[in-house]
Amino acid sequence: MLEVFMAKDKGRGLKCTSPIKRGTVVLSSDPFIHLLSTEQKGIRCDHCLSKQDSLLRCSGCKFMRYCNKTCQKGAWLQHKHECAALKRVSPKVPPDFVMLLGRVLWRLENSLDEDKTEDLVCIMDLESNYERLTDEQKETLGQYVVILHSYWGLGKLPLQVPDIRAVLELCAKLKNNSFAICDEELQSDIGTGIYLSCSLMNHSCVPNCTSVFDGLRLHIRTLRDLQEDEELTISYIDQLAPSEDRQQELQSIYRFTCTCHMCANKINDDKMLRDGNGEVLTMKSSKILAVKDFLDDLKKLQKSGKFEEVLELAGGYVSRNVLPTRNVYMARVHDFATDAAVMTEKFEEAFAHGVLALKNYQEYLPEIHPLTGIQMMKLGKILLFCCRNLEAIRMLLEALKILQITHSHKGEVMQELRVLIEQCQIEIREETKTRETSKQPEQQQSSASAE
Ligand SMILES: [Zn+2]
Ligand SMILES: [Zn+2]
Ligand SMILES: [Zn+2]
Repeated sequence: MLEVFMAKDKGRGLKCTSPIKRGTVVLSSDPFIHLLSTEQKGIRCDHCLSKQDSLLRCSGCKFMRYCNKTCQKGAWLQHKHECAALKRVSPKVPPDFVMLLGRVLWRLENSLDEDKTEDLVCIMDLESNYERLTDEQKETLGQYVVILHSYWGLGKLPLQVPDIRAVLELCAKLKNNSFAICDEELQSDIGTGIYLSCSLMNHSCVPNCTSVFDGLRLHIRTLRDLQEDEELTISYIDQLAPSEDRQQELQSIYRFTCTCHMCANKINDDKMLRDGNGEVLTMKSSKILAVKDFLDDLKKLQKSGKFEEVLELAGGYVSRNVLPTRNVYMARVHDFATDAAVMTEKFEEAFAHGVLALKNYQEYLPEIHPLTGIQMMKLGKILLFCCRNLEAIRMLLEALKILQITHSHKGEVMQELRVLIEQCQIEIREETKTRETSKQPEQQQSSASAE
């Protein structure tokens, strides 16, 4: 069904050899290597990344934590050498990237006689962009290699990576090809993973596929019907941003310029960047710079759990009408406000903000997009809390239309959605019943008086 080919100006790519229907899983892959992010340490299992109230600590390094013995056993092949290295450098802990690099090197060392996997590409054949990195980026990679030196110890490097230059190339390959692992609800930064086949997919700001995680497993699904020979694309970045922001992000991490038709024709930029007077702002205008700073502030406050403050500031910003609802950055402001209002149990307020964010999602993202589906589900849940059951069911059914295409039917999100819909239907039935029973005596009375 899939074939590796040389995409014009983009290096390798993946295309389909026959037509594919919308919502089809075209690739499913376990990570070649993965790592829990530092921020999630002690909250999630280092092996399966699931959230746990209590975790078992590795008695060797006292650093890794697991759900149970099964997860510890599952991790051991990957952790064996790492455990000894962590013990040796303790109490120092290497940065995430060096730990990821170490895991790749240990896996390479042990994989010389590994059976051929189903992956369409091997780690050493991944695309590197080392030559295109800035001096500063090369310097950073150099620093990682220095740290790796003491972490790796005196042992020889694996045969595939014989010298420092090869390690630097490998670093660039990892940076260029890693996926941020999210939960199904698309909260990012749970961890990082290398998914070999999936990394063959090129970027587009209007991709025809989307990636959704089910635990550690990454599924790539089609967002629309594909024709024979069509290239499969995903978005490497946040699509809810004007072209200049998108290009900047792609340049700084992946070192390429996107030439998709959204970027080439700056589609939606004028709508995304309008101010309250209808004037199209430039990226360097004071209002745009100010809203970006403001969003950074909100993020910091949210991280430190100051939800009341987030809600108040975001609410104040919205009421001053600095930027209109359709301005793309307003979706972020409303997102922060929604989450803060939920955390402080102000559900009506949460809905008011969330529905405005949704308008921007619908305006600027493709019709079928996981973020839009997740947002609708969130709003449906909020409406249920507000006892606005008829609106809730409408919203949840809209969410279902999207999520049944973007998400696994057996996954947590779809399971939760089905429960919410059921719960909502029960509440509506109960409501109707109570209304009817309270109506009946009235009807009897009125018919009695008519006689
Ligand atoms: Zn686990
Ligand atoms: Zn250990
Ligand atoms: Zn683009």
